[in-house]
Amino acid sequence: MQQPRYPIIRPTIPDAAGLAAEFAEILQGGIVTVGPRVAAFERECAARTGAADCVAVSSCTSGLILAARALGLTGEVIVPAFTFAASAHALVWCGLRPVFCDSQPGTLNIDPDHAARLVSDRTSAIMPVYIFGLPPDFDRLLDLAGRRGLRLLCDAAQGLGATYRGRPAGGFGDAEVFSLSPTKVVTAVEGGIVAVRDAGLARKLRSLRDYGKAADGCDMEAVGLSARMSELHAAVGRRCLAHCDELIAARAALVGLYRERLAGLAGVSFQTIPADRTTSHNYMVIFIGPGARRGRDEAYALLADAGIQTKKYFHPAVHEMTAYRASSAGLRGTLPVAERASREGLALPLYSHMTAGDVEIVAGEMLRILG
Ligand SMILES: *Cc1c(COP(=O)(O)O)cnc(C)c1O
Repeated sequence: MQQPRYPIIRPTIPDAAGLAAEFAEILQGGIVTVGPRVAAFERECAARTGAADCVAVSSCTSGLILAARALGLTGEVIVPAFTFAASAHALVWCGLRPVFCDSQPGTLNIDPDHAARLVSDRTSAIMPVYIFGLPPDFDRLLDLAGRRGLRLLCDAAQGLGATYRGRPAGGFGDAEVFSLSPTKVVTAVEGGIVAVRDAGLARKLRSLRDYGKAADGCDMEAVGLSARMSELHAAVGRRCLAHCDELIAARAALVGLYRERLAGLAGVSFQTIPADRTTSHNYMVIFIGPGARRGRDEAYALLADAGIQTKKYFHPAVHEMTAYRASSAGLRGTLPVAERASREGLALPLYSHMTAGDVEIVAGEMLRILG
């Protein structure tokens, strides 16, 4: 496929020249995976998130699978239907049943009232998701989890650098898993970070990411995965993490400009960011609803024709995906906020080194199509 003139995402990797030199050093040094850079990156992530410990893994998805194992989850886990499919995939890989929950209007995060109604005697956990980087309603989720004896395993893939009531993402759930894939604000090219509250859990995760090895390195204490992080990836992740606040500030300015330009468009709305939290601005999503001049799908096609890459996001809702349809029979139509968001959401080009001029051009095209 031809590169669009305005791509939806570009990874921002600070100091590529410095990295090349560091790569040479790593490759000549001989320790290329789970070495000193991974250990330093884990400490830096713990300092940044306020978690007791952080464990570096190969992706957010593998981190969610390993965290669900390490937490000993069983039976059912409540997960939003309006999320990226990997949230639910991780549960299925652990033999758990995802129970799909509706979203709150506005924030589009998991709806704590609906989640409370979905708790059964088989439920072992809730998996809230940082939607587009926005923390969920942790006060109410922690209250619910505490009252019903449930674990909170967070899909924080998009949330690194966000805050809730002044505290950083990563310190709320029993485990919170960040993604470092190229579509995220902080990237390691590929990778994930599991932030945990409990040191014992971190020890289990370090074994599970390395096949389940026991302390002697020969015996296996559990059936783990091969999901380590390499020193090369850690080197990239560390440089990116060091610039996390700048990357988010750059995005906040671009999102502010988008919102200003698009504010008057009939039928168009944005995610609500409550005053008690901040987002990482991983995605700039607009919702093209009834009353708009054109539907979401038509706007998507016209923007593509104009060289502007967008993404229907998240779409379809997970329970409407082919892989989940059979197990979710009868659910369709029962999660109105999630289903509507998946029909209306369109992610616009946004990356940390995007220029204001490019935002003006994309916004101008949106005004032409939807104005
Ligand atoms: C990116 C993303 C994932 C998957 O992350 P990987 O590191 O690619 O496994 C999971 N959940 C959400 C919400 C995401 O945005």
